[in-house]
Amino acid sequence: MEIIHLSAECYPVAKVGGLGDVVGALPKYQNKLGHVAKVVMPAYNSKFLYENEFETVYDGWVKVASTNYQARILREKTNKLGFDIFLVHVAGLFDRGGVYGYGDDTERFIAFQVATLDWIAQWEHRPDVIHVHDHHAGLIPFMVSNCDQYRHLNQVPTVLTIHNAQYQGQFGWDKLLYLPPFDLINTSKLDWNSAINPLASAIKCAWRVTTVSPSYLEEISHVANGLESLLSQERGKSIGVLNGIDTEVWNPQKDKMIVKGYTARTIESGKKANKEELCRVFNLDSTKPLYTFIGRLVGEKGADLLPDIFYNALAQSNGDINILVLGSGDPQVEDRLSEITHRYPGNYNAYIGYNEALSHQIYAGADFLLMPSRVEPCGLNQMYALRYGTIPIVRRIGGLKDTVIDIGDGGFGICHDQTSVWDVGHAIGRAYELYLDQNKVKEIRKYMMSIDHSWDNSAQQYIDIYQM
Ligand code: ADP
Repeated sequence: MEIIHLSAECYPVAKVGGLGDVVGALPKYQNKLGHVAKVVMPAYNSKFLYENEFETVYDGWVKVASTNYQARILREKTNKLGFDIFLVHVAGLFDRGGVYGYGDDTERFIAFQVATLDWIAQWEHRPDVIHVHDHHAGLIPFMVSNCDQYRHLNQVPTVLTIHNAQYQGQFGWDKLLYLPPFDLINTSKLDWNSAINPLASAIKCAWRVTTVSPSYLEEISHVANGLESLLSQERGKSIGVLNGIDTEVWNPQKDKMIVKGYTARTIESGKKANKEELCRVFNLDSTKPLYTFIGRLVGEKGADLLPDIFYNALAQSNGDINILVLGSGDPQVEDRLSEITHRYPGNYNAYIGYNEALSHQIYAGADFLLMPSRVEPCGLNQMYALRYGTIPIVRRIGGLKDTVIDIGDGGFGICHDQTSVWDVGHAIGRAYELYLDQNKVKEIRKYMMSIDHSWDNSAQQYIDIYQM
């Protein structure tokens, strides 16, 4: 099958969170199964763009409202990612460093989608599937089936994957003319709560809808930022497929970003070396248990509670624990998390910002990884933690519920029910007790490293969905 993925992120070209990881891995594994999966994404000003060679496969114009933008689609020449990657350059809209958060994001992502379809519409053949990811590509299923200029694509199946239903990309009806012409009788397919809502439109128009874990599909009918009833209505065509991880990128044996590679057999010496280096860099004591957090500092991740959770844990432990945070997001949370370093130097540190290499070093060097998420569609951090022999401490929600089993239930992680200071504090206490039993910790680490969360299985599930 020829599968075209459309996404705003794809690792290693551009990554803000899990979406980038998934779109950077799933196509590679689909190709390994004998299919031809390709990725189309915007051409941000990224290192990838300047360090690689490209050929132009499309040169044209894209009209958004009354402005004509020059559009060019570039293919990376060597297929080095394990799949063909196409970057959509739209002059004036994507030649910037960031991925999201601009005042003209609506125009940017409409231009991305229209330029991509204009290009595909010129092909002599049709792809077997167009697979769109999140709201940035969410207008595609509507446009393919309703816009006059793409009429001959309307039999191409479209699949939407919802990585996070909190973000929907809504904009006002005053921007209706930003879209290519279509029969106005179909406007209801774009509408949700009196706005044009790309995610809602994709849920309505895509042939199939998937969520990134089975539990998230159950939860999303109750918590989906206003889309609950729509998702319940469309439940019949929806399926939860658990994300995998790219075991080539996340491989503790071969990882070049960590100081010492290790396998399940050499895990104790490997983790020790990585922990010592991490503690040296962040002025922590490697003889004490190291609790960590990696992620966006937003309410969904429970980040607003982290400062209180950490103050309590540090006060109660009499200096017997270490905590290290890597993240960025809400400036107030960033400030509060930074302040703790001054109160507890030697036991606590925080790196505020985005740092891919440091994330690998933390998965390798930490004893525990905290994920007190309020919402977690899948969560990849806990799967990376397992692969690197780091014990996850997670709230039982979404994909966390599908991937982590509590030690009390014969599993390997520590689970709690609520995103609350008390619940997480209690879980930290349980982790401390566990840490004192090093034989048990060793046994769990070995077991966690043997768990297979690679994409092999889920990549095939998507193929089955395309063929349904
Ligand atoms: P989400 O997509 O909701 O942010 P996921 O758990 O699905 O959460 O994926 C998060 C990904 O982003 C992981 O690869 C994680 O390591 C990475 N990540 C998050 N914050 C940072 C950061 N500050 N620095 C480096 N990597 C980060």
